Amino acid sequence: MAYGTDMWCFYDRLFIGGEWVRPASTNTIRVVSASTEEVIGAVPQGNETDADAAVAAARRAFDDPTGWSTWSPGQRADAMLRLATALDKYSGITAIRVSSQNGMPLSISKQTEAVMPATLLRYYAGLIRDIPVEERRPSQVRGTTAVHKEPLGVVAAIVPWNFPQSLTFFKLAPALAAGCTVVIKPSPETVLDAFLLADAVEEAGLPPGVVNIVTGGGRTVGAHLVNHPGVDKVAFTGSTEAGRTIAEQCGRLLKPATLELGGKSAGILLDDVDLARSMRSMFAATLLNNGQTCFISTRILAPEHRYDEVVEAFTAMASSLRVGDALDSKTQIGPVATARQRQSIEAYIARGKNEGARITTGGRRPADLDRGWFVEPTIFAEVDNGAAIAQEEIFGPVLSIIRYRNEDEAVKIANDSAYGLGGTVWTADTERGLAVARRIQAGAVGVNGFTLDHGAPFGGVKSSGLGRELGPEGLSPYQQLKSVYLPA
Ligand code: NAD
Repeated sequence: MAYGTDMWCFYDRLFIGGEWVRPASTNTIRVVSASTEEVIGAVPQGNETDADAAVAAARRAFDDPTGWSTWSPGQRADAMLRLATALDKYSGITAIRVSSQNGMPLSISKQTEAVMPATLLRYYAGLIRDIPVEERRPSQVRGTTAVHKEPLGVVAAIVPWNFPQSLTFFKLAPALAAGCTVVIKPSPETVLDAFLLADAVEEAGLPPGVVNIVTGGGRTVGAHLVNHPGVDKVAFTGSTEAGRTIAEQCGRLLKPATLELGGKSAGILLDDVDLARSMRSMFAATLLNNGQTCFISTRILAPEHRYDEVVEAFTAMASSLRVGDALDSKTQIGPVATARQRQSIEAYIARGKNEGARITTGGRRPADLDRGWFVEPTIFAEVDNGAAIAQEEIFGPVLSIIRYRNEDEAVKIANDSAYGLGGTVWTADTERGLAVARRIQAGAVGVNGFTLDHGAPFGGVKSSGLGRELGPEGLSPYQQLKSVYLPA
């Protein structure tokens, strides 16, 4: 359904109920390259009527007495593997579309957006074959009780722009495995990759209505889905602000919701850290995707007696990074996703200076790049943990280095945050690192690196969210439990 070349792509229909259907309005979303500021594509801008059609299609598919939700786990797993194979074909163009839209360096989108969707489908297809959906237990009273894990129903998957495909499949893969049907609402900034997913769903021959995609300009379509009586569960990744609104609405409706929200994680460098060695993994742990990654350690906690050494190492690392067009394979830092995002980052940089922190490198727009929403990788030293740049999520290539006196104080500073998503500990002694990691209030912590493991639960505490995605634990939010008593 795409017209023109892959770099200038237009769609005039939405993928709903297994068909490319005419949207309810003639409004469009124009997608702009973060690197060049040029328009690279346009898609229909869905509205509430389109969302209603998508929910109705997902509802029909779910309620079909011989449909997807009633298939055996093995049948669903086979279909998921077909979808994974179809997605493999699109992996190269998926990486290009994501990087063009949100500025993610191509080297990163090739390792994440291009491969994570199929990887997660294969992983959850394997799990649903292996984990029984019915367990018979001896009753504590009389006879036996059968405990069923049933698919929860129609899921609204609402996704942000920073890792649009990976975060879609954090939701879609377990939802499909469980037997749910899904309406995906991508971010307006990154809609083009979602249409490739629609192409793959069509090619894989998934039953009509099992996967539907509805676009939306602002938050109207997402909010409509959250409140829709035909939607049984909301799976959301995005800002804490939107997450709170969704939680309130779901609370009122008693609708389950998984919320993966913002972060302001700490990277604690212990006093025994081998700095030169650690710096090799530090870029990915602190600045991945131009700093637009929810779990990265953007507060660097350095021991007082090694503070200057740490500031020097981070300054050298940040100033050596190659900043440029996201599609250049040598680029390490691309542009941030939108003009609005850059404005917000620049406001934080100004605020950091006003708060008395010292910029050791960066802080401006790169002089040699006059197009695209670029910000130089920026390091702030002498940051107080109470400062706005240490407490608020900047979502750009900006790190704050904070001084601590002893290990207890480092843990205290790390936990002195409204957020609790990720974190890292850097040390010559892994067991010591593990002991410190246990004391950090966060859903996922790495020792000497942060490698997101799709076989383990991921999610936040405090203002970073509710619930977990990934791992076997990421399947259960899409299932509900029913006990059948067999007393005879
Ligand atoms: P956002 O909250 O503005 O939007 C995310 C998605 O939700 C978009 O599709 C948007 O259209 C929709 N939306 C916004 N408000 C809504 C509402 N009230 N009801 C329903 N839908 C709504 O976030 P963003 O700016 O696109 O993404 C960046 C944020 O996401 C950052 O704060 C980042 O930390 C967070 N994030 C978190 C994780 C995680 O796993 N915890 C991962 C990636 C990004």
